[in-house]
Parts: sequence; C-alpha cells; structure tokens
Amino acid sequence: MKRHEPVLFFALMLIVVACNTTTTAKSPLALQPAGEAWGALYQQQAAEYKALCFQAYNIARLRLDQRLSVRSKKPLAIITDIDETVLDNSPYFSKLAREGKVYSDSSWINWTDQVMCDTVPGAYKFLKYASAKGVAVFYITNRFQRELLSTVGNLRKWKLPNADTTHVLLLNSNDNSKESRRLSVEKEHEIILLIGDNLGDFNQYFDHLNNQERSLHAQTKADLFGRTFVVLPNSMYGNWEDVFYKGQHVNSLQKQNQILLNNLK
Ligand SMILES: [Mg+2]
Repeated sequence: MKRHEPVLFFALMLIVVACNTTTTAKSPLALQPAGEAWGALYQQQAAEYKALCFQAYNIARLRLDQRLSVRSKKPLAIITDIDETVLDNSPYFSKLAREGKVYSDSSWINWTDQVMCDTVPGAYKFLKYASAKGVAVFYITNRFQRELLSTVGNLRKWKLPNADTTHVLLLNSNDNSKESRRLSVEKEHEIILLIGDNLGDFNQYFDHLNNQERSLHAQTKADLFGRTFVVLPNSMYGNWEDVFYKGQHVNSLQKQNQILLNNLK
C-alpha cells in the first residue's frame, strides 16, 4: 500500500484544485434572486421581524395617544402605506426568487388579484385602535388603479378599518410620488401619523433621490422617525433598490445582479 501514497497524494491534490476552480467559476455572489428569497424568509420566519413591526406599531400607538390628549380643529387622520406596512407580500417575492424571475407588473397584479396577503404583525390591532378613537385611516399606496377592488377586498378580508374606495388612494399618475394624495387628505383632516416601509411614504423630500441623497435626508429628518413617521422593516425591495436601476433597461436577473454587485461596498 505504501508505494501508492505519492500517487494518492497527487490525485487528492488534483481533486482539491479542481474543486477550488469549480467553486470559483460557479459561485459568483448572487444578490438576485437570492436576496429577495432571503428577505422573504426573514419576513416570514424571523421573530425579530415581528418584534420590529410590533415596536413600530407600539410607537404609533404611543404617539396617537399623546396627540389625542390635545384638541384639534379638523378631524384627525392617519396615513398608512399598504404593502409591507399593512399587508405582507413575501409569498410573491419568494415565488419570484424560486422561479428566477424579475418583478413584472403582470405577475404582481396576478398576485394581488388573489387577495391572499396576510397582515403585517401589529397592523390590525393598531389601526382598529385608532379607528375606535375616531381617527380616520387613509391607505395611500402605489398599487395600480386596476388593483382597487382586490386591494379593498384584501383589507376587508382582515376587517381593517376604512377599507373602502374613499380611503384607499392608489397610484393616479406616472409619478410615484404620494405627495398630491397626502395633500388631498390634508384638506379635510389633520394628519397625525404617517406609516410606511419606504421613505417616499412620509414626505416628498424623499422623492426622486439617489441613495446618497436619501441617506442624507434621513439623517436630516432623524428626529421625525418614531414621532410623526413610523417605519416598518422591508428587506425584500424598496426605492433604495429601484434607484440603482434608474434610467437603465434592466430586464434580467443577471443585469440586476451586476448592478447590485457594483454598489456593494
Ligand atoms: Mg410599502
């Protein structure tokens, strides 16, 4: 047996080298679709995700109670986003990841048409509480107009307050900004809280910025988070990702992946 040892050693070395070569060639870091799958898994399984949501809605309730102790001339209102703030779309994003597909409006609408979204932890309890205190709830979402009935249906499925076509304000132009819809609510109401998972859910000064500018504005407005702005976690998607693809025709996971990798420090 001893005479075979040099041969055996050489063969083992070849295997090790081959494995290393294969690993290098086949395993470039894949942020897409693995990132969305990881984000969906976190949203579905991590108790820490739930804890963050409860924390956000506990803060919202604290701020609501503080505001209720002061009189107002106008009726009070809360503005909330829907996706990843009130409704959970993680099954859609895990399906995209499993199938190796990029987001498309048609696959998204196919998902929302099914009215299968669960609620984000803490959302139901808080919104019911606010409604019971006489505070109107307006849902400002960038879902499309054609999703109106399915969206209202999904909110009603969970018996959320003000789930009707008057209080659900969808995308009404090509501009993703929610500012005009916020102003329309503000005409008749005093807005006491804004709730969302995306900075664009809070104020127009977060619109149309690159990530460096978004971070700078978040820092400038730091005192407002946990006061009038209540932020929910979303590790699957958001404007922070969209801005990477701005002005580029990105229709494949490979292109998305390369752009994301180029921005990874
Ligand atoms: Mg959202």
